[in-house]
Amino acid sequence: MGGMGCGSWTRLSSKATVESQNTINIRYLKEQGLLTAGRSGELTWSCRGERSGAIDYLTKENGIQLTYNYRSGNRGEWQAVKQFVHYEYTACHYGGQRTWFSCSECHRRVSAIHCAGKYFLCRKCYGLNYQSQYESYIDHQLYKAQEIRVKLGGSASSTSLFPFKPKGMHWKTYTRLRFKVIKSEMAFYNNLNNQFNHLALRIKGKKG
Ligand SMILES: [Zn+2]
Repeated sequence: MGGMGCGSWTRLSSKATVESQNTINIRYLKEQGLLTAGRSGELTWSCRGERSGAIDYLTKENGIQLTYNYRSGNRGEWQAVKQFVHYEYTACHYGGQRTWFSCSECHRRVSAIHCAGKYFLCRKCYGLNYQSQYESYIDHQLYKAQEIRVKLGGSASSTSLFPFKPKGMHWKTYTRLRFKVIKSEMAFYNNLNNQFNHLALRIKGKKG
């Protein structure tokens, strides 16, 4: 199963509980024949042979109903949670369709949802690993771009005109630096744009 931490799947039966960071992968549901409506049972996670979480599920035509008890930390109160996760579909190249989860919070199409809090949401909503690593990389790239701009005698700001080639610098060097700056700044703005869309979706979702 992979996913967060240690998350192999086993089938045990007792009260369904989930603590943190358990992952459900759409591929697993498909392999287990759980994309068909009308199936119910329990999904459990184990870590080094020990049961680490479990949820009850009920499969529907357009999604999966998850029921479990959740508490934050080891001493919090248990709360009963019922979450319906909708599916989304995309067409495959060679016919048929591929099923995805639609994240309950941001409505992005994702192949895995994680329980890092009360609900099963996408990695981005929980700000888990990959995204924050990517963002710090992007920030670093932008910083590098600013350094290059200043080195060429211009302003650090990405909104100012790109500085002219300093006297004595080879065109080849200048072009390489310029290309590097453009690439970094574009990545930064793309990421910002994605974050903005993400935020706009959340605001839209809350109003409706
Ligand atoms: Zn999300």
